[in-house]
Amino acid sequence: MKPPRAAVVGGGPAGLMAAEALAEAGVAVDLYDAMRSVGRKLLLAGKGGLNLTHAEDLGRFVGRYGAAQAEVGAWLERLGPQPLRDWAARLGIETFVGSSGRVFPRDMKAAPLLRAWLQRLRAMGVRLHMRHRWAGWAHDGALCFAAPDGPVQRSADAVVLALGGGSWARLGSDGRWWPLLQQRGVALAPLRPSNCGFERTGGWSAHFVEHHAGQPLKNVALQWRDAAGAEQRQLGECVVTHYGIEGSAVYAASAALRDAIGAGGQATLWLDLLPARSLEWVAAELAHPRGSRSLATHLKSRLKLHGVKAALLYEAADKAALADPARLARLIKALPASLSAARPIDEAISSAGGVCLAALDDRLMLRELPGVFCAGEMLDWEAPTGGYLLTACMASGRVAGEGAARWLHRAVDGALSG
Ligand SMILES: Cc1cc2nc3c(=O)[nH]c(=O)nc-3n(C[C@H](O)[C@H](O)[C@H](O)COP(=O)(O)OP(=O)(O)OC[C@H]3O[C@@H](n4cnc5c(N)ncnc54)[C@H](O)[C@@H]3O)c2cc1C
Repeated sequence: MKPPRAAVVGGGPAGLMAAEALAEAGVAVDLYDAMRSVGRKLLLAGKGGLNLTHAEDLGRFVGRYGAAQAEVGAWLERLGPQPLRDWAARLGIETFVGSSGRVFPRDMKAAPLLRAWLQRLRAMGVRLHMRHRWAGWAHDGALCFAAPDGPVQRSADAVVLALGGGSWARLGSDGRWWPLLQQRGVALAPLRPSNCGFERTGGWSAHFVEHHAGQPLKNVALQWRDAAGAEQRQLGECVVTHYGIEGSAVYAASAALRDAIGAGGQATLWLDLLPARSLEWVAAELAHPRGSRSLATHLKSRLKLHGVKAALLYEAADKAALADPARLARLIKALPASLSAARPIDEAISSAGGVCLAALDDRLMLRELPGVFCAGEMLDWEAPTGGYLLTACMASGRVAGEGAARWLHRAVDGALSG
């Protein structure tokens, strides 16, 4: 008897993992992707060192998924951070824990991992079909693709959709699947930027942009209020840009800032320019008489505050605040930045929104479309950078692949016994 056939649509980390789980379970797998080659976003992530996962304890790790932590936590039971490192090791890719707890391949590259992974998948019989853009379903349930020689239809006994989110469309994940699932009655949330930069209300002055745009703000702490109004704080690094601010510390705040802007048109981020120093210490240093020295020299000699950090103060504070050491100290410890918009989704590291988790059962099968499973960033969850994105994409790919395999085998067993 022929093995059941599954189609995986989307060859990012989620789709490749689903294909692997299906092939391991003895299912014949055809993997389709719109691009000329698979894993383009994974390869781009490799340019930043490929932060595969994180070594913090599992409870903290799961908490990173916020509102979706119950569902993502269940996926991580199938493929958590340590099993993911073991999986990479079986591909010949050893990983290490960086000083921040982030986990990377030893060579900090994605290409060797992707190469080894594709080799394994091909050896398992997974067939790759490139330049096949999925365009919906035919009346008989077959999958419709735009292929190099024109439209084609392919049938499969089960389907895993792993089409990615809505950022970096040129790498394949363009979110054009959204209306295709909406037409079929699948509950969807709009795709929104996540891990993104923000525009400063009113922009920066031309002088500031000319001299400081693109410069990193190292050793700062960002503070913001989350949806419940609780104060959050993130130590780290960010970058001032011509439009506002972006970078890894900002990404941690991006969901809360984006939602606050969505609700009220504006959000405030506070920058602590000297996070290692107390307000009292800063105030005492500033209170030293500066005599005939300029404020810039005073800030530099007493606080080692200069360059882009000092320029931010001049940009944000009025003359009266700059002349008042106590007010200036408070600003140095909590400089408010009013933000008016998240940057466009295409620039974001990832996206939020997509297939609502309630639309899926615990195998990640769509309740509206039996036999159709979904995985990866196209599902409605989000997490900060730190390896949490890839881990959840791959974990969900495994859950969907295993779920589809069980569903297929049950269907075959049912047919045999019937
Ligand atoms: C610059 C950058 C750096 C990043 N670095 C990291 C990092 O270090 N660590 C981390 O955890 N995460 C990182 N990420 C995020 C991570 O890469 C993504 O979350 C992850 O790739 C999403 O996996 P996925 O399989 O769900 O989707 P994708 O990787 O986006 O793959 C989706 C696939 O589906 C295909 N597709 C889409 N529509 C169709 C269609 N209609 N028909 C056929 N095929 C289709 C696409 O061509 C694509 O190949 C980074 C992202 C960016 C942009």
